[in-house]
Amino acid sequence: MDTAVLDLIRRSRRVLAICHVSPDGDAIGSLLGLGWALKAMDKEVTLACADPVPVFYRYLPGQGEIVRRPEGMFDLVISLDCSDKERLGDAYREEYHALPLLNIDHHVTNQYFGTANLVDPEAASTAEIVFLLLDELGLPIDPPMAQCLLTGIVTDTRGFRTVSSTPRVLAIANRLMAAGASLPEIVGRTLDRRPLAMIRLWGQALPGAQLRGKILWAEITEAMRAEAGLTTVDDGGLVNFLLTAEEAEVAVVFSEKNGGQEVEVSFRARPGWDVAQVALSLGGGGHMLASGATVRGKLAEVREGVLALLEESLAAQERARRER
Ligand code: 5GP
Ligand code: MN
Repeated sequence: MDTAVLDLIRRSRRVLAICHVSPDGDAIGSLLGLGWALKAMDKEVTLACADPVPVFYRYLPGQGEIVRRPEGMFDLVISLDCSDKERLGDAYREEYHALPLLNIDHHVTNQYFGTANLVDPEAASTAEIVFLLLDELGLPIDPPMAQCLLTGIVTDTRGFRTVSSTPRVLAIANRLMAAGASLPEIVGRTLDRRPLAMIRLWGQALPGAQLRGKILWAEITEAMRAEAGLTTVDDGGLVNFLLTAEEAEVAVVFSEKNGGQEVEVSFRARPGWDVAQVALSLGGGGHMLASGATVRGKLAEVREGVLALLEESLAAQERARRER
């Protein structure tokens, strides 16, 4: 592992760690796992996320300490699970620009924006990279760290179902369970749990799902969310569910937000395709098989534009495959 990374951590006293906006299980899990570890190293630690911790991650030890807007002085900022600096949102303030920034991430679209970059696109989750970092620092894993880090791994692999679920991932999961993490609790709290309102929202969105070639897409309007009684923009895993359709190679969910001025786009693909580049070209990012972006514009307009781009990209990928 890069000694610059280890030196940054060893030399720091007051650390601010930040995960991405609209946090998922890997964002919160890697943030808290690292937070517990830094405390065990006797550092002063502030943990931040520009958006609130989603309710289903509130079982994680230490989550109540995560702040929206950090205050105070720091000598190191650590970014977790962010492919670009914008993903830090306004938890990353103007005055931190002079501080060293350690970028820990696993997105293939990572922009290497840190002073030091611990980026591994082969890793299934940022939590896994944090685990390897703690191993390198020789820090023993205690039960709270283990529970947080295993949450990151389990949520980003959807319970070890993704192509990123390598033997290394399972070996690390094994060590985290041996250190005190509970796999059934994590699965029960995250993957196997959603509000009834979310199921009703799916009920509204699913009849409108349409197949366009190999792309299965659906949309969630603000009116549907209001009807279901939901305030958060996340789709509760709808895009993953759509990709279970036999006819689909790629699934997309368009979610209207910010009073109809913006659309959150979520892409998923079966192995063999790449949806990271389309997301990147829209100003977002992610992985080959799971990516996303926020696009300005009206829902129907954005949907037609994005589907056209996506069709073009898939056709180019197909041509490239035939020529190989
Ligand atoms: P999801 O569809 O679950 O929101 O996101 C899938 C993947 O795409 C995640 O790895 C997430 O970090 C990434 N992603 C989603 N939205 C954005 C975005 O607006 N910007 C960037 N850089 N990545 C995104
Ligand atoms: Mn992640």
